[in-house]
Amino acid sequence: MRIQNYINSELLDPQGGKHLDNIEPATGKVFGTIPDSQSEDVQMAVEAAQAAFPSWSSLDHNERAKYMFAIADGIRARFEEFVAAESQDNGKPISLARAVDIPRAISNFEHFGHAITQFSSESHSMPGVAINYTLRQPIGVVGCISPWNLPIYLFSWKIAPALAAGNCVIAKPSEVTPLTGYLLSEVCKEVGLPPGVLNILHGTGPAVGDAIVTHPKIKAISFTGGTTTGKIIAAKAAPMFKKLSLELGGKNPNIIFADCDYDEMLNTTVRSSFANQGQICLCGSRIIVEDKIYEKFVKDFTEKVSRMEVGDPQNDGTQMGALVSKSHMEKVLSYIEIAKEEGGTIETGGHQVKLDDRCSDGYFVRPTIITGLSPNARCNQEEIFGPVVTITPFSSVEEALSLANGVVYGLSCTIWTSNIKKAHNLANEVEAGVVWINCWLLRDLRTPFGGMKASGVGREGGLEVLRFFTEAKNVCVKL
Ligand code: NAD
Repeated sequence: MRIQNYINSELLDPQGGKHLDNIEPATGKVFGTIPDSQSEDVQMAVEAAQAAFPSWSSLDHNERAKYMFAIADGIRARFEEFVAAESQDNGKPISLARAVDIPRAISNFEHFGHAITQFSSESHSMPGVAINYTLRQPIGVVGCISPWNLPIYLFSWKIAPALAAGNCVIAKPSEVTPLTGYLLSEVCKEVGLPPGVLNILHGTGPAVGDAIVTHPKIKAISFTGGTTTGKIIAAKAAPMFKKLSLELGGKNPNIIFADCDYDEMLNTTVRSSFANQGQICLCGSRIIVEDKIYEKFVKDFTEKVSRMEVGDPQNDGTQMGALVSKSHMEKVLSYIEIAKEEGGTIETGGHQVKLDDRCSDGYFVRPTIITGLSPNARCNQEEIFGPVVTITPFSSVEEALSLANGVVYGLSCTIWTSNIKKAHNLANEVEAGVVWINCWLLRDLRTPFGGMKASGVGREGGLEVLRFFTEAKNVCVKL
């Protein structure tokens, strides 16, 4: 599969002629090539986007919305192709791509197609003196950079609102999972999205990603990825006064009280720990359990998790697929070693899995549960972003809160209790941008989404992201 850049509605090889390998995580084998794009490709895309901006930004919002719906329909028409591509490229179970990733990409385009028709701005009256009204104008050419864990889900989460708000976009999917981003460019060609409105470039972060971040004509950057990368991007973009939205890493607490609905909590906690091989920024990787049920929980949870099937992502019944790359698998395994050195007990898992046949060289790790670590242990503090969770007991609400907040991150938190007062109070105190009470990953696309502390700056979702992708201009008229 030879992937190409999408610039000015054309599918092109990178100008430098260089390519990278695309590796299938389930097999460890190269199955395609990716453009190794450089700054000259970004320049070409920016020129196309600048030329497209006047007509795209002045197009009636209902017309822009129709393009969003057409893209959604275009993905729907090639649904199974997107599903297979996402699973092959990322290593995730095909059932997950079918149930979550591709439906969500479709919803993103539909949601922001509708949202732009409902986007209004404010007016502030100074009775008898003046009236202020606020214009919310598209910014111009914007950059969208996304990670590998939910490739098209997160790519479209940025692109759709940026386009709907009237911007022209230079977008880069992760070089680790470029395939559905490429299929999206084919869909945009099929539906006749005007040339230059969306440009999709492939390649590495330090090359093409950096060229997007530092290009003087790209006025805003929406980035989702690791906290370390976010720091680099912020350091470069801030002195250029670019608008920045940073959705970064997490180390999310899953707080479980003895008074919760135990069975529902247990089933959901298996999912919130290990869905997508634990490679969802919102996974609860630190399970914090009230001491009254600690022993029972560790036993029941370990029993359930040890029965989970790790298998070929292409098989419909597979619950856990491959980790995304060899280097990522090695990073995850190295954290398990660190946990052992720090005195942790591996309750289940803790090792790579060797499968048969076509998957014999794949990057599979058994879901791993670690107990007995101190709150300051590295596996309780640092993001592992894989199928590894820790369990820590607590004896009071205050202790649970202190454990939950005792990390540099602040993305999401899950609270399990039937005491609604306790849940609300804790939700109020916990340092997280997203809190779930008695559920996990229940998403309403209208709600603000993002993290506190080292988990990011800014909020995406709903009208928040339309505000991010527009400049507010206040106009004051004297009466
Ligand atoms: P990453 O930071 O390595 O890469 C993310 C993207 O940034 C990729 O497209 C990459 O090519 C690009 N990039 C890398 N260096 C760059 C640079 N110097 N300049 C510009 N672009 C650059 O992250 P990853 O490993 O792909 O993804 C995993 C991380 O993403 C985890 O930390 C996870 O928590 C985080 N994440 C956060 C959210 C969220 O919503 N907060 C969602 C998903 C993933």
